[in-house]
Amino acid sequence: MRLLVLAACTALALSACKRTEAPANAAMPVAATPSQTPAPAAATSANPPHDNLNAVAWVQTSVEYKALSEQTYRAAADHLDQALKEKNWDALVPEERGNAATGLKPAVVMDVDETVLDNSPYQARLVRDGTDYDEVSWDQWVAEKKAKPLPGVVDFARAATAKGVTVLYISNRAVHLEQATLANLKAVGLPVAKDVFLGLGTVVEGCEQNGSEKNCRRRLAGQKYRVLMQFGDQIGDFVQVVANTREGRDQLYGEYHDWFGERWWMLPNPTYGSWEPALFNNDWAQPREARRQAKREALDYAP
Ligand SMILES: [Mg+2]
Repeated sequence: MRLLVLAACTALALSACKRTEAPANAAMPVAATPSQTPAPAAATSANPPHDNLNAVAWVQTSVEYKALSEQTYRAAADHLDQALKEKNWDALVPEERGNAATGLKPAVVMDVDETVLDNSPYQARLVRDGTDYDEVSWDQWVAEKKAKPLPGVVDFARAATAKGVTVLYISNRAVHLEQATLANLKAVGLPVAKDVFLGLGTVVEGCEQNGSEKNCRRRLAGQKYRVLMQFGDQIGDFVQVVANTREGRDQLYGEYHDWFGERWWMLPNPTYGSWEPALFNNDWAQPREARRQAKREALDYAP
């Protein structure tokens, strides 16, 4: 999830990181249960406009978002047979493929948040309450197990399972959220086999975990499986991000853009992600206005 975080956190640390500043409107509750849901308040000086209003509204209300998600999963399903048939087809980058993939059982690797499960109701809460992500409100939302699946993902995952492909979940949800997460996944009809959840904090022997980077967990998945496809809403869901700067991210994209639409499948997420702190030196400790100014300076203006 999005974060207001320690400078030491990488942009992908998500739920591993801690916020360091007060909510925009500390008088408002961090999160409310549905029975306590107050009416949304209009923006006032005490309840200022929320930076995420437009993005959350788009995710929750636009047919464009639904279509993007569905077309992604439908196209991926159309590539499954080819991926299964080509014995050398593998979706891990060479640096993260520690062993030969040929002959291993097939799997797909899926991120969870905003790839499989839609947490926009949690984001909407934050907009309503004038607050930002924090671990307490996030853990409460996860414990409710009310996240819905992204359009198209259930059909895809079931089709993959029917072809003998294991669905693995590599998520930056912390391991203490595993049971609630698996219950939510099952409740919406997603396949959950044994030992398929690799959350943040999973220990991988011989691989040093760097923050919330997923490379060690991908390597672990690769020891047992040939990874046909990866799904995510962040570039770090596919490959290790060594430098979360615009240049570092662009370099990765340049190297692997051919993989998208074949081995890698990206879901849209305008509400948070490592793209955002890349614009302000990954320093969430900066005042909000300084971060906004850095974003304004990153824009490409018409003359
Ligand atoms: Mg995600």
